[in-house]
Amino acid sequence: GHKLSTHLAKTRPSATYRMMDRVAARRASGASVISLSAGEPDFDTPAHIRDAAIDAIRAGHTRYTQVAGMRALREAVAAKFRRENGLEVGWEDTIVCSGGKQVIYNALAATLDEGDEVIVPAPYWVSYPEMVQLCGAKAVIVACDAESGFKLTPEALARAIGPRTRWLILNSPSNPTGAVYSRAELAALAAVLLDHPHVLVLSDDIYEHLIFDGAPFHTIAEVEPRLMPHVLTMNGVSKAYAMTGWRIGYGTGPRWLLNAMETLQGQQTSGASSISQHAALAALTGPQQFIKEACSVFEQRRDLMVELLNQAPGLVCAKPGGAFYAFASCQALIGKRTAAGAPLNDDEDVAGALLDEAGVAVVPGSAFGLGPYIRIAYALDDEALIHACRAIQRFCQSLT
Ligand code: PLP
Repeated sequence: GHKLSTHLAKTRPSATYRMMDRVAARRASGASVISLSAGEPDFDTPAHIRDAAIDAIRAGHTRYTQVAGMRALREAVAAKFRRENGLEVGWEDTIVCSGGKQVIYNALAATLDEGDEVIVPAPYWVSYPEMVQLCGAKAVIVACDAESGFKLTPEALARAIGPRTRWLILNSPSNPTGAVYSRAELAALAAVLLDHPHVLVLSDDIYEHLIFDGAPFHTIAEVEPRLMPHVLTMNGVSKAYAMTGWRIGYGTGPRWLLNAMETLQGQQTSGASSISQHAALAALTGPQQFIKEACSVFEQRRDLMVELLNQAPGLVCAKPGGAFYAFASCQALIGKRTAAGAPLNDDEDVAGALLDEAGVAVVPGSAFGLGPYIRIAYALDDEALIHACRAIQRFCQSLT
């Protein structure tokens, strides 16, 4: 028969999409399921952004744009990096891709060879190791536990760097833990990186605006400007403006890297959708109050979730500083049996049984490189969240 490429054959479909498929199958069989598994805001894209896209269609902005993104959008992206992150960049220092995901993938694909290494702190977003593997390189997973707030320490970073290290991937606020790196923590990592100029840093800032308790957001290129030549700072409109379906992400970094990513994109997609680019332009240049409103809604939900999850016997959940995920330890459930008799040997069993017996979909922490945990996305209204948490509590109480 026909064969797949060696690299693709080893790549696993995203664990979050797998859970979404299982939810769809349960629902198709008539079960009612509350899904706390998807990583997207539950709000609609703000009206002025949707209107900008409709206007773009009517005005005939329906053709190919420049491969790296239309000039006006790249100007707006550069202005965003200057305004919000203190990065002194111009439009030529930016690139626009079809989602933040493609910024990351193109950067890796443009730089990685067989045998190269990428340091990925765990728990990690599911796509990082798989993208590294797709590029034929090796993900070096560095475990970060609850005691360190699920964050990479400078000592662990120094130990992980070798001669073949090409990239370190940082993600703050983090998917799946919601962990936020402080300025001091980033400065300590930057101090290590300054001694290893062969290492590039990919700073995934996609959850920048979902940060709680009034904490300031910091990104490593801003904290240590001397690292600028080695950092790709990546961001996008998906989470900030509830625009996951529009598929617009962007980044800023050294020109040689952006040029290579543009070459790749020119042979691959020819650039992001012109209509979505107009919508993203309206998002970045228009009124910004949506961001604050969404953030305060998520912060209230965070408080609600942490309280209700910790009331479930056997779950332990620390307060995340950002994003819209709770990452709860389910260590105390392991070894128990469900009311229907299913054994809970690991967090995959826990997530499976929660879906089958409690009607709540969550993602096992092991998919993100740390078990036994479950990741609970709180991108639903309070009523649904309370309902789901009550079902989780009853499930935990019914174990033997
Ligand atoms: N980075 C992280 C940590 C994410 O969780 C996501 C989306 O789930 C992305 C990047 C990519 O977002 P998008 O491709 O929609 O911009």
